[in-house]
Amino acid sequence: MFIEPSIGQSSLKGKNGHVEVICGSMFSGKTEELIRRLNRALIARQKVEIFKPAVDKRYHDFDVVSHNENTIRSTPVQFANDILLLAGNCEVVGIDEVQFFDNQIVNVANILAKSGKRVIMAGLDMDFEGHPFEPMPQLLAIAEYVTKVHAICMKCGALASYSYRLSEGKDKVMLGEKDIYEARCRRCFYEDK
Ligand SMILES: [Zn+2]
Repeated sequence: MFIEPSIGQSSLKGKNGHVEVICGSMFSGKTEELIRRLNRALIARQKVEIFKPAVDKRYHDFDVVSHNENTIRSTPVQFANDILLLAGNCEVVGIDEVQFFDNQIVNVANILAKSGKRVIMAGLDMDFEGHPFEPMPQLLAIAEYVTKVHAICMKCGALASYSYRLSEGKDKVMLGEKDIYEARCRRCFYEDK
């Protein structure tokens, strides 16, 4: 489990911000882990703002919702830069489904952390073809802390890090549930491709 090393630690030059990224395949518990970290900050009465891309309309518009229905209020935004305007003077910024943002999100994360905020982002690191999901590679590079979570392969029970799409179609943005995707290990992912 991720243990926060130095939250809100101040140096002689002021409060230090940083970037955390939680990545993994579908059904790996990324959002649950994001919610766990954000809830603990909320319990400590820290000011928390949560965002998600407006493209994700799977459940309710204003909730980051994970598959186990553990929910937390969030604001849907169209562009990464909108987060800079809306983050205000909060201490912690949470962003879910971060892979669906434009490349500006890298800059946005850096600006927020530079201003002393704790930035926690969760997202898919690979698309359904097994390719890195832009802009995740850039976000992983600028993060101080990276947590890769895993699912269980739905074919063989091994550790899974791939999202296998059961239906046809090349559209990268295809949000879905258990009838469209399966978590797969490397071997089972490439066997059926
Ligand atoms: Zn497998």
